[in-house]
Amino acid sequence: IQSKQPDTGTTIFTVMSKLAGDYGALNLSQGFPSFNCSEKLTDLVAFYLKKGMNQYAPMAGIQPLREIISQKTFELYGVNYHPDSEITIVSGATEALYAAVTTIVHEGDEVILLEPCYDSYTPAITLNGGIPVYITLSPENAYKIDWELVKSKISEKTRLIMLNTPHNPTGTVMSREDLNQLAEIVKDTDIFIIGDEVYEHIIFDEHEHWSLLRNPVLKERSFICNSFGKTFHVTGWKVGYCLAPKQLTEEFRKVHQWLTFSTVTPIQYALADFLKDPDNYLSIPKFYQDKRDKFLDCIKGSRFSYTPAQGSFFQCLNYQNITNENDFNLAVRLTKEIGVASIPVSVFYHQKNDFKILRFCFAKDDETLEKAGEQLLKL
Ligand code: GLN
Repeated sequence: IQSKQPDTGTTIFTVMSKLAGDYGALNLSQGFPSFNCSEKLTDLVAFYLKKGMNQYAPMAGIQPLREIISQKTFELYGVNYHPDSEITIVSGATEALYAAVTTIVHEGDEVILLEPCYDSYTPAITLNGGIPVYITLSPENAYKIDWELVKSKISEKTRLIMLNTPHNPTGTVMSREDLNQLAEIVKDTDIFIIGDEVYEHIIFDEHEHWSLLRNPVLKERSFICNSFGKTFHVTGWKVGYCLAPKQLTEEFRKVHQWLTFSTVTPIQYALADFLKDPDNYLSIPKFYQDKRDKFLDCIKGSRFSYTPAQGSFFQCLNYQNITNENDFNLAVRLTKEIGVASIPVSVFYHQKNDFKILRFCFAKDDETLEKAGEQLLKL
């Protein structure tokens, strides 16, 4: 077979989680909670399973779920997405991202990516014949986006820009001003945007979620990709949604139809009920801020340096005061020697760099965070 992805192995998340398993290490690498979701939610799934909601859902997702998402989006951000024609339920944000890229990118189109970026973006582009154009965000500059640089990378071939806020792996968030600057760049062009907003509700301190849909210039050209996996501690369910204006959704659904056709039925019904109580998602920022603070408290006095995450369930730690090793080797060594697995941030870059940063997932029970802290303090 002639491989379409000769340079691709398994993802770093698979690699590090396996290593953590092999060495019995605390797994702060792959992003998933170590605790269970709400019992209310599992009861709802059990109810709909037993009730017999076990056949194909409609291609776009069940009506009650699309309706409650529409209502929630309006209540949170004051914008309308019509449940019939502008909201699609998908099998996780990974599917939403792939389908959105496939909807837009033709052979030879350029797509602007800000890196570090999530690992599925580049393959989605290249498998569709697109060309990724990378802009490096640097920890030395607090990963701030240089919009002049973004503007300078736009060519006649630019068809799409992909953004992620709150951001995996850096834990930074975009501001209203970022949205304004982006809008200034793309208005009067035919450039589309994908907003990966899976950590929408995992945002801390004084920060608020500047969803791209809050800017009208961006909303009309954006696919907003979201996932219930992060918000409700159910990453294994792989259920998410995509918001996009009618014409974009029409094309998006054509792709979704051939990728998965539809998404798991009983879980959609359970989520539609669960979303009726806004406390179920409005309680999440505090829950995760406490987790972040717990983790930072556990590593207090260590030789790592860091800026507290503004959002997401990841904390990046800079280890330049500890060792000169590269981040991949260090992540492997820490897993084997001190029993704490993390993710080397260089894997989220395509242009070579020597930033000395590891990403730790703090979506873990307090005991795991305490034990991890004890081990990290030894460095
Ligand atoms: N999003 C998760 C992370 O960043 C991993 C998901 C996966 O394993 N594909 O760790």
